[in-house]
Amino acid sequence: MIIANNVSKKFGKLKALNNISVTCNKGECIALIGPNGSGKTTFIKSILGMVVPDSGFITFNGKNIVHDWLYRQYIGYMPQIGRYPDNMTIGQIFKMMKDIRDRGKNIPTDEDLIEAFGLNELLRKRMSTLSGGTRQKVSASLAFLFNPVVLILDEPTAGLDPLASELLKKKIIDEKLNGKLVLITSHVLSELDDLITQVIYMQDGNLMFHKSLEDLRRDTGEQKLSKAIASVMQKN
Ligand code: ADP
Ligand code: MG
Repeated sequence: MIIANNVSKKFGKLKALNNISVTCNKGECIALIGPNGSGKTTFIKSILGMVVPDSGFITFNGKNIVHDWLYRQYIGYMPQIGRYPDNMTIGQIFKMMKDIRDRGKNIPTDEDLIEAFGLNELLRKRMSTLSGGTRQKVSASLAFLFNPVVLILDEPTAGLDPLASELLKKKIIDEKLNGKLVLITSHVLSELDDLITQVIYMQDGNLMFHKSLEDLRRDTGEQKLSKAIASVMQKN
């Protein structure tokens, strides 16, 4: 579904991505893990077309994304920090996004998260007045709103209360079972255990490994993702 072929990106002298090649397929929930500054967000932004690689290329369903920006309609993206016009209300943000994305096509929306998070009761609240957690709920709801086949979630549960976190995890699992591709970064490895099927591990812009959770568990002898990753890092 998404294939990166020898993708490299430099910022000045810094190699943010060094010859990254990975294949991401439907029905997988892939954790993108690595220390701060290892290139995770740069890689995500390359997939979204927000960062243009210096060399290498990315395909979405077999087409080079450079020549076809329309593929972005198939991706729901939850950024690490969602930025919204301060004086708009939650309701206005949802309406604006629907107007932009739908353009008269009447695409059915998926409002599960809006309901689960109780955002319907907060539609008249202005973005400037929201707590960090509520802002995250808006970002999460928007990522899932147009039923995208690919979900890219950058630290989705950061700032969410435990209940909201569980609701979001449940939604992620449901969508994975629906055959979607989910790419997720998180610093809280313990919350990824029940979600993911594969791990991409990056360090200093390099792809260290991409393997199934099953293989990672077998190779390290550790059941928990956090312990398995610690074991890999000690060996490096
Ligand atoms: P991660 O998400 O894994 O923490 P990033 O992809 O954000 O890492 O960053 C990888 C490296 O690239 C870091 O050293 C970061 O400072 C650098 N970097 C990222 N974006 C830019 C940019 N726009 N300009 C300069 N350096 C950048
Ligand atoms: Mg990042």
